[in-house]
Amino acid sequence: MKCFECHNDFSPDELIDIQGKAICGSCKVLVIQKFKEGLGFDYDLCRKNQVVIIKKGSKLPANCLRCGDETVFILKRKTKWIPPNAYLLLLLGILPYIIYSLFYSTKITLDIPMCKKHKMWHYSNKWAMLGCLLISVLCIIVGHIVISFFAILLMFVFMAQFITYGVSLSRVSDDHLYFVGLPKGFVKELPKQENPENI
Ligand SMILES: [Zn+2]
Ligand SMILES: [Zn+2]
Repeated sequence: MKCFECHNDFSPDELIDIQGKAICGSCKVLVIQKFKEGLGFDYDLCRKNQVVIIKKGSKLPANCLRCGDETVFILKRKTKWIPPNAYLLLLLGILPYIIYSLFYSTKITLDIPMCKKHKMWHYSNKWAMLGCLLISVLCIIVGHIVISFFAILLMFVFMAQFITYGVSLSRVSDDHLYFVGLPKGFVKELPKQENPENI
């Protein structure tokens, strides 16, 4: 069995139960101290409302984020975080802002695991979206404005499905990354971080 705090292996009788988590003898003092200071467990992956908090260096679960099935495909989502105070530089103009964000932005590539079904689902939305766009453009060219309008509407429907995986970073702290836009079904299953101010 693994200690929840240090992740080392122990036999069950070496572990004690603290608030439903197995903790080893050497971590016990540390965990109790943390609770005294009002800190919760140090999760690798937890949530606060819809924000997913990931400890730097830890990964998302290996199974499909949507349904938990076996992963056949990893979708790479690039995302970038620019410290909020950088927007103040916009007062000085776009150039200082661009220079600052080049040096101080955090770039993250998130690996999103997908099963066979959801990989297909993801790509069919993409192609359906592009198909609608093409139909809409063709209809404008030949003068069918009404059909073109409906094709655009339909495109947005597929786009909404497609960008459900539009994961983005909402904050970066010293030890943690904060993500928004991960599928709701996945977020719901994560443990809640009771004291998000403390991490
Ligand atoms: Zn331990
Ligand atoms: Zn799936």
